[in-house]
Amino acid sequence: MFTSTASLLIFAGCAAGPVAGPNAGPATHPTVVDGAEAPHPDLAESADAWIDDHAAQLAALNHTIWSNPEVGLQEHVAADALIDFLSAEGFRVERGVAGMPTAFVAEAGSGSPVIGILAEYDALPGMSQAATPRREARPGAPSGSAEDIGHGCGHSVFGTGSAAAAAAAWSALEASGGSGTIRLYGTPAEETGLGKTYMARAGLFDDLDVALHWHAGDVTRVYYAWSKAIVSAKFRFAGQAAHASRSPEQGRSALDAVELMNVGVNFLREHLRDDVRMHYVITDGGGQPNVVPPRAEVWYYLRADDHASVEHVLERVGEIAAGAATMTRTELTTQLDSDLFEVLPNRPLSVLLQEQLERVGPPTFTDAERAFAAATQTDFEPVPSKPLADDVMPLPDGPYRVPASTDVGNVSWVVPTGGVRVASYTLGAPGHSWQIVACTGMSIGEKGLAVAAKALAGATLRLIEDPALIAAAKAEFDARLEAGPVPTTVLPEGQQAPTSIR
Ligand SMILES: [Zn+2]
Repeated sequence: MFTSTASLLIFAGCAAGPVAGPNAGPATHPTVVDGAEAPHPDLAESADAWIDDHAAQLAALNHTIWSNPEVGLQEHVAADALIDFLSAEGFRVERGVAGMPTAFVAEAGSGSPVIGILAEYDALPGMSQAATPRREARPGAPSGSAEDIGHGCGHSVFGTGSAAAAAAAWSALEASGGSGTIRLYGTPAEETGLGKTYMARAGLFDDLDVALHWHAGDVTRVYYAWSKAIVSAKFRFAGQAAHASRSPEQGRSALDAVELMNVGVNFLREHLRDDVRMHYVITDGGGQPNVVPPRAEVWYYLRADDHASVEHVLERVGEIAAGAATMTRTELTTQLDSDLFEVLPNRPLSVLLQEQLERVGPPTFTDAERAFAAATQTDFEPVPSKPLADDVMPLPDGPYRVPASTDVGNVSWVVPTGGVRVASYTLGAPGHSWQIVACTGMSIGEKGLAVAAKALAGATLRLIEDPALIAAAKAEFDARLEAGPVPTTVLPEGQQAPTSIR
């Protein structure tokens, strides 16, 4: 029996392209919009200072999440740590939202506008790794053990950085006497696409004016991008058990159905668009060889650049599954767990976030941190030109495509959404790799989360100060929706979040 050892909702690290020098100059002061409340002139600097003053606390928060990695829907240590941190900073917290015990919404302030910041904190199975520049398991979590889990996507710094952004922005806003609502969304189980999918279905993002997010990356840039849409589907076959040698003619093998289905899908590949991705793991292949397997299951991720194409692929794969059931006289049931839309990019928010990244500047790494990262690059072919990105990449004229998926996509079709990537690990590190675990468990990741927190806090405060920024983001968002097509989910109406995914 195979087990799923890695979820595939990765951020594929972007190639480090030519980069612009950081703008480490003085902070941009907010502009006053007619009729708007006069802004505090130093709100972003105030938020920056809050993050610097709390560096030790943020490092400790990241360490708590990083050293207690939990897979999706089981992130109790992480959710509790983030909730404790935000509660202490004056946030009102609602736990267990959208039917998921580790999902939460934390809110501070009041009135309009309402700015949401997204946080993730789930880890990946099979990724135990120490915070050292060589491949070795985390102490007490040997490979193959129940503790063999690690933050291979950097979500410990993601959660910590987003919470820090919300707290810092609220601290600055509260001190200024300004109005506005800052909301931190604790979104679990991103690696299986559950958290934001079901939070969006529950309408939790409906009253937002803007949503902001970030992710650990190997470069620092605005995520002005389309991601891939993806459906998570499990195909279960039910047959008839029988002694595999004495009475095989009495058996109907569910494993045969899984194998025939996979053969059919692999022949289908040739006749699909280049942007389609289909990958699977056999999550139940029977018990032992002398029993014809009466049950078997295969878990598929089906992706494409747009949701309509995913719907087409799902239809084709479903027909193949039904054919496999016919061939083996087994019964098929299909379970759709999550359905992620492609991220809808937003130019005005991307421009704002570019300004913020340039205002803050990229993470500034020490020689020791560069040496740490360089030691993790020895297996790369070719070895990148430098160990860590040290610049802010320019904003492209149009959105780029990312060959991975995120449930941020489901938020982005509800409310204008913008995000950034901040260098928090080795340049050139593959997604879901030990290098990411190692770097985000030490100062390299802590520096990345601080830059992200400052950029998101600064953007949040600018949006609160300047209604014209929100209006511009909404105008483009509305135009995109009007131009269509707008994706619609394939999940059954009224389906609730699963209580477990494995
Ligand atoms: Zn991730």
